[in-house]
Amino acid sequence: MKNIIVQKFGGTSVADTDKIKNVANVILKEKAKGNAVVVIVSAMGHTTDHLLKLADEVNKSPNPRELDMLLSTGECVSASLLAMALQATGNKAVSLNAAQAKIYTEKVHGSARIVDIKPESILQHINNDEIVIITGFQGIADENEITTLGRGGSDTSAVAVAAAIKAERCDIYTDVEGVYTTDPRIVPNASRLEEISYDEMLELARVGANVMHPRSVETAKQYNVPLRVRSSFKTDNLGTLILGVEEMEIRRTVTGVAADLSQLRVVVCDVPDVPGNAGKLFERLADDDISVDMIIQSYARKHNNTNDIAFTIYKNDLDRFNNVMDEIKSELGCSNIFIDDKIAKVSIVGAGMIDRPGIAALMFKTLADSDINIRMISTSEIKISCLVDEACAKDAVKALHKAFHLDSDEIAEVKGTLPDEE
Ligand code: ADP
Ligand code: ASP
Ligand code: MG
Repeated sequence: MKNIIVQKFGGTSVADTDKIKNVANVILKEKAKGNAVVVIVSAMGHTTDHLLKLADEVNKSPNPRELDMLLSTGECVSASLLAMALQATGNKAVSLNAAQAKIYTEKVHGSARIVDIKPESILQHINNDEIVIITGFQGIADENEITTLGRGGSDTSAVAVAAAIKAERCDIYTDVEGVYTTDPRIVPNASRLEEISYDEMLELARVGANVMHPRSVETAKQYNVPLRVRSSFKTDNLGTLILGVEEMEIRRTVTGVAADLSQLRVVVCDVPDVPGNAGKLFERLADDDISVDMIIQSYARKHNNTNDIAFTIYKNDLDRFNNVMDEIKSELGCSNIFIDDKIAKVSIVGAGMIDRPGIAALMFKTLADSDINIRMISTSEIKISCLVDEACAKDAVKALHKAFHLDSDEIAEVKGTLPDEE
């Protein structure tokens, strides 16, 4: 049996028919090495955005099932065109949608999780020496319902398929040459990382580095699928390898910086300081499926014995939050609720920052030196996040990138030295 390589091509890589032909060549190069190739494709260019806009034109709150029916068509177009492009070169290729590839998800529209992939049908086509092209982003739930995995979800389709068919490797082809220390569109002299651990990539993806869909990294870690992020256009460059931390040669203090503009801040004012109120508040939000990220509760004020509770939620959940806001107010007996949607969360991530208080101090000082006010802070073992004004997000990323010596002319320091050891 040949080794199987899974290749995933994102929207920019298949944006027009010339690019689809370019992708066909990349696939054939891998096949020429004697490997079997299974390909996952995203929709062409900005197709998914365009389809969302069409839906909005006919209905301001479209039915999630119909939205999935619509959005899933984007990937069908690119998959079949790519199969045709490969067939035009005299190669055997077949495109499969999620039902044909047997990618099963839970029955949740818009952000379904893959629960199972039955590999037999994909393997049968491989045995028939065909290049298998599978639609990313879509799945199938009970009773043949079409689901989608959430924006950027084709990465997750690719990794899940790679795990199911026991592929040697999963290559994520995109429009940049790998994973960088921050978004190269924000900091042009960001450094490309030769390798990064699953944990660091997962944390970076969760805090806004949209080069990888977070669930794809989770799945890769769970099934130990080696991942490579690389360019569709400069294929000689090997890109960035994402792998287990124990396999890494270098541990960095801070590996990357990211900004996330997808959240907004809610401040619930003057919540009576009695046991149970925070529980009531967050239970109510959970009941309505509203995810909360950062949370701060102020000290009880002496004069009226109340707290302010501030937290962040995702902008996508604002309508649902607005629906429960009045109930929350009366249930908690708070004075007011403010919403601020002009905020950004900037984060630094690195496996080597565990137990290093100097890293947090340097982050806060760097933001202060740039006159950027910190509104909230949250930390985990390998991440520190600060909430700042949206207008400061880019400056904050640039300043932090510089302060932690991540600029490309300083990459030597990134590879091992801690700022306090210089
Ligand atoms: P695709 O369509 O191939 O899935 P995406 O747009 O989802 O591509 O992801 C690639 C983009 O991710 C890049 O163009 C880049 O602007 C952005 N990005 C954000 N953070 C990073 C990072 N740390 N390293 C590389 N790219 C990043
Ligand atoms: N086409 C989908 C999107 O634009 C999925 C993907 O590209 O990964 O989000
Ligand atoms: Mg993507």
